[in-house]
Amino acid sequence: MGKIEVIAGPMYAGKTEELIRRVRRTIYTKQKCVVFKHSFDTRYSCENVVTHDGQKIDCITVKTADDLLKNLNGLAEAPEIIAIDEVQFFDEDIVSLVSDLANQRKRIIVAGLDMDYKGLPFGPMPQLLAIANEVTKLRAVCSICGADALFSKRTVDCDGTILVGAKDEYIAVCREHFKN
Ligand code: ADP
Ligand code: MG
Repeated sequence: MGKIEVIAGPMYAGKTEELIRRVRRTIYTKQKCVVFKHSFDTRYSCENVVTHDGQKIDCITVKTADDLLKNLNGLAEAPEIIAIDEVQFFDEDIVSLVSDLANQRKRIIVAGLDMDYKGLPFGPMPQLLAIANEVTKLRAVCSICGADALFSKRTVDCDGTILVGAKDEYIAVCREHFKN
């Protein structure tokens, strides 16, 4: 049976860590797994999905949903499991692609930011959360008070939804410290 698993949350919540954990476990299922990420994320590497604390696995970097499908069709062996990190950066076409692949009995694991730096739903995440079989919402630790953090707060003065960054540009904060 096909399945859509969504891992959501703010920056530093451990989304990539959780995606890597699920991907590594597939070694024991004898199923082929392939990992993609969006090309906007060049923070630590272009050929790897990398966590903020340095864990990494190989991946294919793609720009669009169409690009992802072309890469998938070009693989020598069709994978049963497809993982996608930084899925919030994709266009809306990712929603129908994920749905089609699940209908073709693939297990799809996607990880992404559910909200942008303004606290608004990020790109295709609302639709992906809606069509998921399973949703895992992770929280980080608030950099100001240590409570559970739901939001990614930008610490530099810059407009525009997409500013790819890490510690120098964003902190994870709780609701109390996001609204102030
Ligand atoms: P995400 O993909 O959700 O941005 P990662 O999986 O890359 O997160 O990284 C999670 C790791 O980030 C944690 O295990 C921890 O080592 C580190 N980290 C850094 N800052 C924080 C924070 N404020 N809250 C929780 N973890 C943090
Ligand atoms: Mg990540």
